[in-house]
Amino acid sequence: MIRRGSDFIRSMKEGHHGEVYYNGEKVEDVTEHPAFRSAVRTVADYYDLHWSESLKEYLRIYNPDVGEETSVTFFRPRNKDDLRRLRIGISKIYDFYRGFFGRSPDYLNVWTMLFYAHAEDYFGKVFGSRMMENVIELYREATRQDLFYTHAIVAPMYDRSRPPSQWEDPYIQIGVVRETSEGVVVRGAALLSTAGPYSERLWYLPNIRRDTDPRYAIFFSLPTESKGVKFISRRGFHPKEGFGEFEYPLTSKYEEPDAIMVLDDVLVPWDRIIFYKKPEEIEGFMWHTVNLRAWFNWHFVIQHYSRTKFLAGLAIALAEAVGINNFINVQEKLGEILLYLSIYEAGMVASEELGEQLDSIYRPNPQISIAVSAMGMKALPRINEILRLISAGSSIPVPAGIKDFENPEERRLLEKYMSSKGLNALDRVKLFNILWDTIGSETGIRYEQYDRFSRGDPTIRWAQMYTEVFKEKKGEYVKIIRDIMDQIPNPKA
Ligand SMILES: Cc1cc2nc3c(=O)[nH]c(=O)nc-3n(C[C@H](O)[C@H](O)[C@H](O)COP(=O)(O)OP(=O)(O)OC[C@H]3O[C@@H](n4cnc5c(N)ncnc54)[C@H](O)[C@@H]3O)c2cc1C
Repeated sequence: MIRRGSDFIRSMKEGHHGEVYYNGEKVEDVTEHPAFRSAVRTVADYYDLHWSESLKEYLRIYNPDVGEETSVTFFRPRNKDDLRRLRIGISKIYDFYRGFFGRSPDYLNVWTMLFYAHAEDYFGKVFGSRMMENVIELYREATRQDLFYTHAIVAPMYDRSRPPSQWEDPYIQIGVVRETSEGVVVRGAALLSTAGPYSERLWYLPNIRRDTDPRYAIFFSLPTESKGVKFISRRGFHPKEGFGEFEYPLTSKYEEPDAIMVLDDVLVPWDRIIFYKKPEEIEGFMWHTVNLRAWFNWHFVIQHYSRTKFLAGLAIALAEAVGINNFINVQEKLGEILLYLSIYEAGMVASEELGEQLDSIYRPNPQISIAVSAMGMKALPRINEILRLISAGSSIPVPAGIKDFENPEERRLLEKYMSSKGLNALDRVKLFNILWDTIGSETGIRYEQYDRFSRGDPTIRWAQMYTEVFKEKKGEYVKIIRDIMDQIPNPKA
């Protein structure tokens, strides 16, 4: 099934979401609440893209795994061409978002599809036929209803020097409290759940590498409307009262709310659990058979290719509009952005070309996907820094709002003093509002945190290039040096 935006909004209005708390109040209608309504509309846009005349050929596909047409984002690639088809579909979505809104439905659709692809060779093999059936059924449920998932992985920041099982309360991290005939009861919280307040399902898949206590070794899917599922939202970054799209062109569309996800003694039915009691099996899930790490990093490369196109356009438009584009120091910085852009493009194509053919799926090249995505953890904040450097102090004095242009006396002054060599005053202000929403507004700063930390901590991820990603291959490089060393003459005995 392929939904329309109106179907999603109806689902939200009918309350198919968790218990949402905002500033002390329980939110009854997320579609109207100022902190969530623009994100709900953007998700609705995602569904409507599948019906748009210009995009539907990229976003819809006959899906043989469910015997009907679905979003391409649920499509299981069986070969290189299929993976390209999936990548082009996802690219169209992120070009629409200008590379923002990274937790739109497609992100976790790919995960649900991936688990399905490994139903037999991982979930069945490791956890038995029941978990295998669960994975298959959850994929069918998601595709047939075109559901919107959130996910949360990380334990709250209580004390990172000790594993959660040694904290004063071991149920700060989500863990199993007891088993019943119907399922298991879980308690705890996870940080953070982007889109949690307006999602219909959740995936809970903790990073149990950090703590192998078996009570934490449980991965599952739940309807967010299940009893005890609660989302405590952060402050909304929506435009301040009296302002809107003119002043906040990105925030007004791509402000992506985040929340703390609390599971307050929630019953997880047996048929929604996909991983249980075998913490050591996380290796196969994250790094080997399923290799979730390769897939989500691949998705980030696609998102961030679209974002870097937007950022390159912004930097170049700005430099050319105010006549700084001929300075060598500015050209060097514009060149640096274009260099990252090219690496993203190369990473996307190379991970496809050099992908891995498995029995049940064609996988993007893990090493390339992980490396290019990890590069972005530092490259994207660096691009924001470049935008700050080239716009300098002029990024700040921008008239407050659209109404400044509605006052004739003020407009006369603005026409003279806010225009630039390349732009009239109105366009120059529009450009600088895009700039500030990228580098300075709460939304801009939040995206910078997202770019750095959404795949974990950059220090650890960069170190893992050495400790994990190149674990086997690095010996080949050392051998090059050893061979030269062997050829260098030794002193006579
Ligand atoms: C905007 C945004 C949206 C996100 N959305 C989601 C989402 O929807 N779902 C989801 O699951 N995740 C999401 N994440 C990612 C996630 O929640 C965490 O931000 C990420 O995994 C990092 O964990 P942490 O913030 O607890 O930092 P930590 O990993 O605790 O790191 C904090 C600091 O301590 C240091 N540190 C911690 N442990 C060690 C160690 N062992 N050795 C050395 N140094 C260490 C790190 O270098 C870092 O500087 C999102 C993140 C952001 C910023």
